[in-house]
Amino acid sequence: MPFKSLALSLAILFILQGCSQENKQEASLQISHEDFLVLDAHLDTPIILDRPGFDISSRHDPMHDYAQIDLPRMREGGLDGGFWVIYTPQGDLTPQGYEDALAHAWHRNSVIDKMLIDHADNFMPATTADDAAAIVAQGKHVVYKSIENAYPLGLDVMRLDAFYEAGVRMVGLVHMTNNQFADSSTDPDGLKWNGLSPLGKDLIRRANALGMIIDMSHAHDLALAQAIDLSTTPIILSHSGAGHLYEHPRNVGDALLLDLAASGGVMHINSLSAYLKDLETDPARRPALSALFKQLQENPLKTEAEAEAFLEARRAIDKKYPPDFATFDDVMRHIYHAHALMGAAHIGIGLDWDGGGGVDGLQDITGLPKITQAMREAGLSDEDIAALWSGNLLRVLRLVEASRALSHEMP
Ligand SMILES: [Zn+2]
Repeated sequence: MPFKSLALSLAILFILQGCSQENKQEASLQISHEDFLVLDAHLDTPIILDRPGFDISSRHDPMHDYAQIDLPRMREGGLDGGFWVIYTPQGDLTPQGYEDALAHAWHRNSVIDKMLIDHADNFMPATTADDAAAIVAQGKHVVYKSIENAYPLGLDVMRLDAFYEAGVRMVGLVHMTNNQFADSSTDPDGLKWNGLSPLGKDLIRRANALGMIIDMSHAHDLALAQAIDLSTTPIILSHSGAGHLYEHPRNVGDALLLDLAASGGVMHINSLSAYLKDLETDPARRPALSALFKQLQENPLKTEAEAEAFLEARRAIDKKYPPDFATFDDVMRHIYHAHALMGAAHIGIGLDWDGGGGVDGLQDITGLPKITQAMREAGLSDEDIAALWSGNLLRVLRLVEASRALSHEMP
């Protein structure tokens, strides 16, 4: 898609020339959604890449097998790629727990690598900020790697180095409950560390030295504030929302978002319905789904028949206790609020595909062009839209690359 880079260069030219409002509108007509470099900061698809029978090169139905990303729809929705997540569920903070989690994380990494090998014509690994445009120029999709939940590192932050070597360029410290590094925003037992633990601070210093983006989505506000203060590079939230619009612990309030922006950070907006607004779902739905996923965690799917039985059980829960989804407009409200509060240089997209994201009107990536259209109608310039779709994320990646270079220069 060399046209994409041409269109981007044209856009940059317009911007550099300090064009008039009229010219801006002309330029905006020239850049279609397809021609933006579109990256999502948090793709949970590796969770299902090794599901028996799952094929990323064929088209799936998000309402039938719950898969929200595949190659045909990446093309249709203009999604160029993003950060593909090595997610590990939180377990016990014990030597055995750490060991099992580490094996799990390496397995998830190998699942991403297998996709890169099996579909080398369509996907390419990316590790530097410059890689994204170069890969897209070859007509391929961009695969950065990130970690969601650093729990597998155990008590040794130097274990992060091997993940860096494997191509990981982003590390999220914590998930739904507190771990050895940080307090979670959603731990039912409340605070354990009052933010970051001493080991969590070491982990941030190690990520800074290695050249990895630090992702504080899921972290408690205290941990986020401390990470903003401590990190030498801007913090990102790879999939979060605005607490001003909906007071949920997973969302972040205005004061902290302004601190994030002041330090150069970026919040990527997610589309997980329960974080966007109050939902009216049958209270029995959540325990039913939790039980099913617990079962899945304990007995990973080994055959296509088992995978089909799992999906059938999930569909049965949906039928019995129908989901209540937030809407496309709810997602846009969070984007607009973050934009109005922090400015276009501090917002991005991390819709939590295959990790719980999806709302009415945006159940998979085929709806992404609607976001571009809505932002344009709301008066955002092409420059702002390009920043949201990838410019801000890549700016932070460039800064962590510089941080690595600096730390390697030191004696
Ligand atoms: Zn998450």
